[in-house]
Amino acid sequence: MKLIKAGSALLGAELKEEKNVSILISDDGNIKEIFHSNVPSLPSDVEVIDLGGKCVLPGLVDCHAHLALDARIPGHLLMMDDSETKQTIRAIKSASDDLKKGITGLRSLGDRYYIDVELRDMERKGDLDLPWMQVAGIGMKGLHGHGYVGKGFSGCEEFRRQARENLFHHTDWLKIFITAGQPPVKGDHVPWFISREEVRTVVSEAKALGVKTSCHCIGGTGLRYCAEEGIDVLDHCYWATEEDIDLIIKHGTTVCFTPGVFMDEERLPMCPPDHAEKVHRTRDEVVRRLSKLVEAKPAFVVGSDAYHGLLWHDLVFMTKLGMSPVDALKGVTVNAARLMGENVGVLEEGRIADIIATDKNPLDDFSTLSSPSFVMHRGKKIVF
Ligand SMILES: [Zn+2]
Repeated sequence: MKLIKAGSALLGAELKEEKNVSILISDDGNIKEIFHSNVPSLPSDVEVIDLGGKCVLPGLVDCHAHLALDARIPGHLLMMDDSETKQTIRAIKSASDDLKKGITGLRSLGDRYYIDVELRDMERKGDLDLPWMQVAGIGMKGLHGHGYVGKGFSGCEEFRRQARENLFHHTDWLKIFITAGQPPVKGDHVPWFISREEVRTVVSEAKALGVKTSCHCIGGTGLRYCAEEGIDVLDHCYWATEEDIDLIIKHGTTVCFTPGVFMDEERLPMCPPDHAEKVHRTRDEVVRRLSKLVEAKPAFVVGSDAYHGLLWHDLVFMTKLGMSPVDALKGVTVNAARLMGENVGVLEEGRIADIIATDKNPLDDFSTLSSPSFVMHRGKKIVF
């Protein structure tokens, strides 16, 4: 067994700060007991990990990742056409960078060649030190539609066939891309590239096997189809109108916020040249619309969209959109675990020991998450 001693901890589903906490980890990698101030005498073979004044909290979960897509690299979008070997190597590197930065779990929303499925299974078997993963296999878009990540399909039977192929590979999610990523240049018409019937087909195939669905969507008619047809998660929602927000609330659809794509200036040099110009042109309006969505309090999680190891940037941006720091942090811990049905995300007895430590309480300053001094994954020390 291991005993982690820390100056403070963010405990329970409310991430409440408590001073002088010790956490006992069982040999099978679970949180066995949490001691508040006094630790009783323990067997002599318990390994004591004294973190001094550090703050411990649950490992983070990036709720919108792509393994072989790495937004830290210039020209990364075009690299989705690389060979399988190159993509596999990149995927292992990006996921292991995530883990070293305290991202102990992730949801991967579209990769090629079922690399995500293979890595998920290897991590589960203990063959690789990577974050635990839920994955979507091949992302599906309209044949004429947006996205560097997804593959194009046309007609219900083509979508059904690919949905079933993903499910044959035991994906945890089915992912579709219904709109472009950028808002319209003129007017408010947001084109959509998957029909209502195609959305319904994918949702029904997923439901048949108890698998969840997620959709890349910025707003408009595509958003309405997704909400009404029972898509579980809407990713991005940059261009959601008041009417779209009402639909999200009415149908209880979970929103996966990825604010960094529009708000993080550091990401722009990694994208095609015209991309930065479009982001600058629409950023203020995207921020205004996302702030309205935050204000409406939908069920939500937060993701980086492939900015590996830098998920904390998105937490900063969530507070700029009006969310409290504690709610933002819940979006990558407790809410994420709940959405994915994983026994992590909360420091409490019985949970898997995915635990990280930072110099300060991240709720006072998220930048302390940029270099966690301790990362434990499934009870195993990764960074110490
Ligand atoms: Zn994405």
